[in-house]
Amino acid sequence: MIERRDRRYTVGAEAEEAVAWDMFIGGEGNPNRRARGERFGCGRRYTWGMQERRQTRQITIGDDRVGRVTIGGGAPIRVQTMTAGYTHDIDACVAEIERYRAAGADVVRVAVPERKDTEALKEILKQVRVPIVADVHFHYQRALEAVEAGIHKIRLNPGNINDRDQVNKVIDACKERRIPIRIGVNEGSIIERKDKQRRMEELGKYFAGHRSGHLLALMIAKLEEYVDIFRERDFHDIVISAKSMDAALVIDIYTEIAARFDYPLHLGVTHAGTKDSGAIRSVVALGTLIANGIGDTVRISYASDHIDEVKDALEMLYCLGKRERKGVDLIACPTCGRIQVDLFTLVKEVERTLMPEIELPIKVAVMGCIVNGPGEAEGADVAVFAGDRRGIIYVQGERVANVEEGDILPRLLKEVKEFEARVKAGEAKLGEKRVEILPPAPIGELGSGHAKIAAGQVEQLTIGRS
Ligand code: SF4
Repeated sequence: MIERRDRRYTVGAEAEEAVAWDMFIGGEGNPNRRARGERFGCGRRYTWGMQERRQTRQITIGDDRVGRVTIGGGAPIRVQTMTAGYTHDIDACVAEIERYRAAGADVVRVAVPERKDTEALKEILKQVRVPIVADVHFHYQRALEAVEAGIHKIRLNPGNINDRDQVNKVIDACKERRIPIRIGVNEGSIIERKDKQRRMEELGKYFAGHRSGHLLALMIAKLEEYVDIFRERDFHDIVISAKSMDAALVIDIYTEIAARFDYPLHLGVTHAGTKDSGAIRSVVALGTLIANGIGDTVRISYASDHIDEVKDALEMLYCLGKRERKGVDLIACPTCGRIQVDLFTLVKEVERTLMPEIELPIKVAVMGCIVNGPGEAEGADVAVFAGDRRGIIYVQGERVANVEEGDILPRLLKEVKEFEARVKAGEAKLGEKRVEILPPAPIGELGSGHAKIAAGQVEQLTIGRS
């Protein structure tokens, strides 16, 4: 018996396995249709690599004014980011929060290192439209002040507030007002730094007899200690995080935490690097965990404009099918020796122009030629196939234009906007007319297609509909 972990698919007893597999994926016909499982009409993407989402407790943050956001317990995976400016600069802080909210952040965190920061919170909370988390390090008073100001959630590392009574005061204040707390443990803050004697005792205690896995063991041990502090006070509105810059360690530690606790998990790779390396590092770790069913809220963080963090986190969740896409789903070819237009510039311009303007998840394909382009753009609502300094534009399988390179961008934008208007008016449906573009049968005749495109004869390509 082959049982899929997401329990959607169960195929065949062992003796019938080969037959069942063949039936399931469709033993005949177009390989693309087989890959989509269309012979069975399931029309779903395969999710064989996906584990079922881990069940957790649920917390709720926010209020009547900004709205309430649930985390864990089956809620959608939430996207968070953090402001980069000073919290006490109220106008700038509110403006920054609003940018992130508009980009898709569900929750925004602010640092409150000084009293003037918590003093600013009251006014900030009156103006924002998204739940806010106060990030507290070292000074428990800042947490109490943030609670007093009406903050929606606190982020605390009990390890850098040395006095247990102080941590208890924060827990009690949050409990009274039903404010959740994220217990955040970071690789960098886990080892005692100030008190050398204490550090040696801790390291001796946790690392005795181990040659590897020390950091993971220490982080888990610390987390268990911290969670016990909260449990002793019967406080369970907890989210847990344990961050490192090491993607593999992040995967391991969250996997371990998921097995030990039923609290929601906030995923993140900390001090991940530049946008390029940091995004990859983060998506490798967080994407793996989410595919394994682990994670209830995410922050991708790296040294760049934090708006990029929000975009990358959302794109990761879209790709994993964990959030419903908002805005254009852009496909573009990487280009190769067949290319005859400036596709990189074109696709950047398409993205820059369409992303802020289009609300619906319209699939738009920008492809460099008609050799592989049509097959790779299959399923797009609007597509342009370029070649020989021209572009042929299709809307749901209908060829609507064959224009010179300089006219591709404005014409494509016009077609996408008109298509969106038709969808909004109920005159068309996204993905309704699935375009199935068969490989150009007389490919030898067509060659690279450039001559045909120039002659306006590309409709000879077979464009079909399923
Ligand atoms: S679509 Fe054409 S130009 Fe683009 S990578 Fe594929 S073959 Fe090359």
